[in-house]
Amino acid sequence: MSNNVYDIVIIGGGPAALSAAVYTGRAELKTVIFEKKVTGGQILTSTLVDNYPGFPDGISGAELTELMEKHAKKFGAEIKYEEVLGLKVEGDTKIVTTDSGMYNSPIIILASGADPRKLGVPGEDEFVGRGVSYCGTCDGPFYKDKDVVVVGGGDSAITEGLFITKFAKAVHIVHRRAELTAAKIFQDEARSNPRVRFVWNSVIEEISGRDMVEGVTIKNLLNNERKDLPCQGVFIFVGNIPNTGFLGNLLCVDQGCHIETDENMETAIKGIYAVGDIRKNSYRQLVTAAGEGAIAAMAAERELTKLHAQK
Ligand SMILES: Cc1cc2nc3c(=O)[nH]c(=O)nc-3n(C[C@H](O)[C@H](O)[C@H](O)COP(=O)(O)OP(=O)(O)OC[C@H]3O[C@@H](n4cnc5c(N)ncnc54)[C@H](O)[C@@H]3O)c2cc1C
Repeated sequence: MSNNVYDIVIIGGGPAALSAAVYTGRAELKTVIFEKKVTGGQILTSTLVDNYPGFPDGISGAELTELMEKHAKKFGAEIKYEEVLGLKVEGDTKIVTTDSGMYNSPIIILASGADPRKLGVPGEDEFVGRGVSYCGTCDGPFYKDKDVVVVGGGDSAITEGLFITKFAKAVHIVHRRAELTAAKIFQDEARSNPRVRFVWNSVIEEISGRDMVEGVTIKNLLNNERKDLPCQGVFIFVGNIPNTGFLGNLLCVDQGCHIETDENMETAIKGIYAVGDIRKNSYRQLVTAAGEGAIAAMAAERELTKLHAQK
């Protein structure tokens, strides 16, 4: 097999990719992961992951990444630090173009993840992991009896906000409009929850504190009045941007689309799988990303066996 031909090409080096590579490597398939920055993806900056099975005392994102990477490499997966710029399909072959070369493979696993959309206000970047979060399921339990602000009005904001009410004293939902876009069932649940308070027609202008978040400045868009709201947590749910730009219009009608798959994680194109946060209806959790990576890897192995039998 030539140097640039692989059984499996995995795009992205986050948890979904590393999990897939453990399975494909262990099945003795020649596997390469392309990662444009460093392995680990979104979890790398998290100081405490408290919901990944096997780590009852929690583990930092950096340590978990190191273990996952070691595991994938142990079974022979190669990691190349190259950015994928394009993907083309020619019959059964997929051609991947990176910033350093071209590679062929019958199987592609798309695991390039997504990035939470940011508010872009002062204090947001400074306090990530110190009060600012983009995941209620991950970080909600750290806010027992605290005041928390949730930004957004869609399904994610409301369902994650409701989850946080199990722990927080109060959840203030700050929304730029006077009505929510979340499904009615979630809206009804939020309106009848005594721990939920709505701050309508308003945006966050600044997140402030010393070592940790201590409050936010809120601006009312109708009268431009500003007020300070003391809080210890700010959860931001204003969208999620999948890393699909390199696909052009392959599988995507626009640049912001999440990829649809079947239950084997296979996309509309035979031999191309999508796993983790890039996937439509993803639960955006480490354990689901890792699980989907494993499913795609096993389905891909079966597909490769079929392809080899046809030759
Ligand atoms: C701050 C934070 C804390 C979190 N805490 C938790 C937690 O405690 N528990 C939990 O279960 N979940 C947590 N999550 C969610 C979890 O991190 C994600 O669900 C998970 O990382 C998704 O994995 P993924 O592999 O699909 O994608 P990602 O983690 O997004 O990884 C994708 C990788 O692909 C690379 N990439 C993108 N485009 C290209 C390209 N063109 N070429 C090459 N490489 C590319 C990126 O650089 C990145 O490394 C947290 C998320 C954040 C942001």
